[in-house]
Amino acid sequence: MPLVDLYGHEDIRTLLSDSVSSGKLPGSLLFHGPRGVGKQRLALWLAQLLLCTAEDKPCGKCRGCEYSRNLTHPDLHWYFPRLRPKDPDPALADVIDDYQEAIAERLSNGGLYAAPSGNEGIFVATVRAIVQQASLTPAMASRKIFVIGDAERMVPQEGAEFAANAFLKLLEEPSSKTTIILTSSEPGALLPTIRSRAVAIRVPPLPDAAVRSFLADPIVAAALEKAGAPKSTVERLSIAGGAPGQLLGDEARGRAIRAARKLLDAALAPNESARHAAVLGVGAAGARGAFSDTLDAMLMLVGERMRAALHDADEARALRASRAADSVARALDQASGNVNPQLIAARLLRELSVSLS
Ligand SMILES: [Zn+2]
Repeated sequence: MPLVDLYGHEDIRTLLSDSVSSGKLPGSLLFHGPRGVGKQRLALWLAQLLLCTAEDKPCGKCRGCEYSRNLTHPDLHWYFPRLRPKDPDPALADVIDDYQEAIAERLSNGGLYAAPSGNEGIFVATVRAIVQQASLTPAMASRKIFVIGDAERMVPQEGAEFAANAFLKLLEEPSSKTTIILTSSEPGALLPTIRSRAVAIRVPPLPDAAVRSFLADPIVAAALEKAGAPKSTVERLSIAGGAPGQLLGDEARGRAIRAARKLLDAALAPNESARHAAVLGVGAAGARGAFSDTLDAMLMLVGERMRAALHDADEARALRASRAADSVARALDQASGNVNPQLIAARLLRELSVSLS
């Protein structure tokens, strides 16, 4: 699947495209603005423009454009926060493999992804990989582009001063064959040494019309469905607030929704063994916070069922969903107390299998 189209941001696109054609594009850029506004997508668009070989850039037709849209261009490098590698000093090839996997995963969703979880970062192994790749000559185009998303997650690490300094040097004076685009929704959290070396461009929230077009894109619709975003456009527009990527939630929310779906499926399964397995999967006392998140997500899913039933004027189904919502709310209450999550889950699934089926 190629990257989803870039929606909106016409003013910045014009500005960037003018500075490219006049040869004035700075070597290091920082796109900052609200989370979910499309900063990394915009950075990838600029990368495509820089790698396009046609007159009218980005043409969308040449090999450079095609490879960029599929994220297979050897001179386009995309980095973003990842979990800390288990090996504190992984081989470069392993770091690059890990990113290739992560990029393939993003691409399987049209390049749409949830915000990184709190424990993902841009660790020293990644910084080393960037510095190393920047030292090579471009493979196919006349320049290399580095897109570094959520750059404020680049944290100083003890013993990593050499890599950090090499990166700062790269940012300060990238060769004429290298363009570095950092993005951040928390530019205040960026290391000052990084912030001061890149030319900042603010990426503002999108107007409703652009958000609507984005939401109408089938790739986006599928990704939002998967992420468990609310179904009504009005609700979506209000949550998005001009930054529709927020509808994709964050990693933790995605996990909670997946876990809630699994429990609901088990409740509806005809055999008891599926329910039993699901209860065991909840985990015992240790995972209390995660269990409450799962129940929260379940409440939302059951609420959606109720709204769908009301929409179909199916009162009986709506009533059943409303009973299910009561059960989930009671479980949430118990989960905040001292009751074992597995006990709560066992009872909840029993109740749900009666009320929903
Ligand atoms: Zn092109």
